[in-house]
Amino acid sequence: MLQPVRGTHDLLPDLMARQRMVHTAARRVASFFSFEEMATPIFEFSSVFHRLGESSDIVSKETYTFQDRGGEELTLRPEGTAPVMRAIVSNGLTQSLPLRFLYIGPMFRYDRPQKGRYRQFEQVGVELVGPMSPAADLEVLCFAHMLLTQIGVRDQVKLHINTLGDKESRARYRETLVAYLTPFASELSVDSQRRLSENPLRILDSKEPQDRKILENAPSFEDALSPESAAYFQEVCTGLDALKIAYHIDRKLVRGLDYYCHTAFEFICETMGAQGTVLAGGRYEGLTSAMGGPDIPGVGWAAGTERLRDLSPHIPQKAPLFYLVPMGDAPQRESTPLAYALREAGLCVKTDMGGGNMGKRLKRADASGATCALILGEDELARHEILVKDLASGAQITLALNALAPYLKETFDLKD
Ligand code: ATP
Ligand code: MG
Repeated sequence: MLQPVRGTHDLLPDLMARQRMVHTAARRVASFFSFEEMATPIFEFSSVFHRLGESSDIVSKETYTFQDRGGEELTLRPEGTAPVMRAIVSNGLTQSLPLRFLYIGPMFRYDRPQKGRYRQFEQVGVELVGPMSPAADLEVLCFAHMLLTQIGVRDQVKLHINTLGDKESRARYRETLVAYLTPFASELSVDSQRRLSENPLRILDSKEPQDRKILENAPSFEDALSPESAAYFQEVCTGLDALKIAYHIDRKLVRGLDYYCHTAFEFICETMGAQGTVLAGGRYEGLTSAMGGPDIPGVGWAAGTERLRDLSPHIPQKAPLFYLVPMGDAPQRESTPLAYALREAGLCVKTDMGGGNMGKRLKRADASGATCALILGEDELARHEILVKDLASGAQITLALNALAPYLKETFDLKD
């Protein structure tokens, strides 16, 4: 028996419906914020990701990179920001700023599979490209907050926020941090030992207990911030206060790629353990120039759809279903055009396709989750009538066939 590849999952209808709820909410909130949906290919030239720095964990360890039959080096996208920036440059959109994009789609990372961590997963993400201001950071934070509210997870997550400051602040901090960590180098995790020379800031984000212990006394980012960077961050925080969005300043929060600067944030669900970050993002610069365009700053975030889905208490709403039961040869023949006409009128119809007596068929109607059974017998058909049986109450009513659709729409309050 064949199994799906480790770290991949089938989305059977129940999960799919719950995942779609997240999509619907994201698209709704996007329209309120005037963000437009776009999509990029799921694979790109490897250079789109690799020029962002081999030092990031995603690029160095987690990409699915392969040569296609034409010998091109391609990578399944591990995240959405670099492809969106590539698309902005490739399509000449750098003249039409600001850009406000939503994307939804699968990402691929060679991560260690476990609950909430997959090798193919999906992200919902946004990018606000062009403006370099606390107001832009607040705009995407508000979007995230509203999405989390609408899917019912806001009270289960906490906003953690930090600033990585400008380039100079980061370089200053990097030096202080390396000076502090170097004497402990041999006690750090293997990954962090590698990061020490390549991407020391990323060590702050390590989940390894031995690293966390050493980091307890690490110098604070705050002391390395330039006055301008500190003022920028203060404005973001004041904005959150005004919005009454609660947050926790976490001086150890960093982002993976070197392009991140200033505001960095994560919405974390503490009860989910190491897979508790449901949405993460921040401000970046230099990405469009790495793609061969002018340097345009941006701010955005991405959320794991599966993690959002698993936290959301909402149950997908289905439109009422009508279960058509033809009894006899003539009704059987009539059932296909009748179902077609009802569907054309905007009703959801499932026609019974098994045999058996009425009892058996009504049992199937019940099991299908239908609201009503529509029973079309020989006698009813001869009189151009149909029996409508409410499956919850058992109440039934006989109607003229041509009155059926208007009756169902009126009774179940279905709009066109
Ligand atoms: P983590 O620290 O959990 O590895 P990350 O820093 O790699 O996360 P980002 O690159 O910021 O994550 O991606 C944003 C969001 O995408 C995460 O907060 C998470 O919800 C989701 N995500 C990332 N990697 C995976 C994965 N392998 N499986 C499922 N969801 C993921
Ligand atoms: Mg990761």
